[in-house]
Amino acid sequence: MTCHHCQCQKIRNRKVIAGNWKMNGDKASNKILLETVLASYEKYNKIDWIVLAPFVYVSQCEKLLDMSHLGYGAQDISENANGAFTGDISAGMLKDFGCHYVLTGHSERRHGHGETNELVAKKTKTALEAEMIPILCVGETLEEREANQTLTVVSEQLKAVLNLVKDPAVLSKMIIAYEPVWAIGTGKVATPEQAQEVHAAIRHQLKQMDQTLGAKMQILYGGSVKPDNAESLFKMPDIDGALIGGASLKAEQFLKIGEICNQFS
Ligand code: PEP
Repeated sequence: MTCHHCQCQKIRNRKVIAGNWKMNGDKASNKILLETVLASYEKYNKIDWIVLAPFVYVSQCEKLLDMSHLGYGAQDISENANGAFTGDISAGMLKDFGCHYVLTGHSERRHGHGETNELVAKKTKTALEAEMIPILCVGETLEEREANQTLTVVSEQLKAVLNLVKDPAVLSKMIIAYEPVWAIGTGKVATPEQAQEVHAAIRHQLKQMDQTLGAKMQILYGGSVKPDNAESLFKMPDIDGALIGGASLKAEQFLKIGEICNQFS
């Protein structure tokens, strides 16, 4: 199996379970969470497991996960390498703590911090140049869905990255997460058919650039994934795993979703 020490061997189309802790946790609860996951996750070894921690807990992940196959990373990255950017964290700093993954364009950054498609594309490019694996999040708001703009919005978000990073071999290192904004943290999950439609469109867009890139891209679904809705999502042909917020903070739920994902691998 692959691990976060050998991202260059990342196997495409392997399913992925990624936990986004958001701004939650503390040293004591993170330790319990990670130790509980570490005790069982290797039973489900056909998939890749990742946790995305708040910056300050990345070093705790390094200590606890260093010898494991549980990958870890951060939830944001600066588009700049270094300099007068108070409060920002660079790719080099994250790599210094062993991170191989980073979220880019999470909707809480796009909508909560005004990150544009262009800025998200720059951050994604920066991560790729640093040989990290960006998990590029795309997704529409409820208003956009109701105005029938879902596929246009998602395609524009992806296009900004494809315009900046033109090499399919480099793009192949990325993971994409389709996360409808209206389904994140709301308990409202997209139906498997709604998610599948967008995943297929993303894959099609990538195939238009490069057939292999599209065929092999890992496209995760995110938005209120829980053990009881995971199976119907993972049955869909273009859903390669999940980006999980709330349920990733509960070891039993995170493990259960991984167990289900593993069954579809
Ligand atoms: C997320 O944080 O990316 C997410 C999908 O959250 P939740 O699973 O809580 O909806």
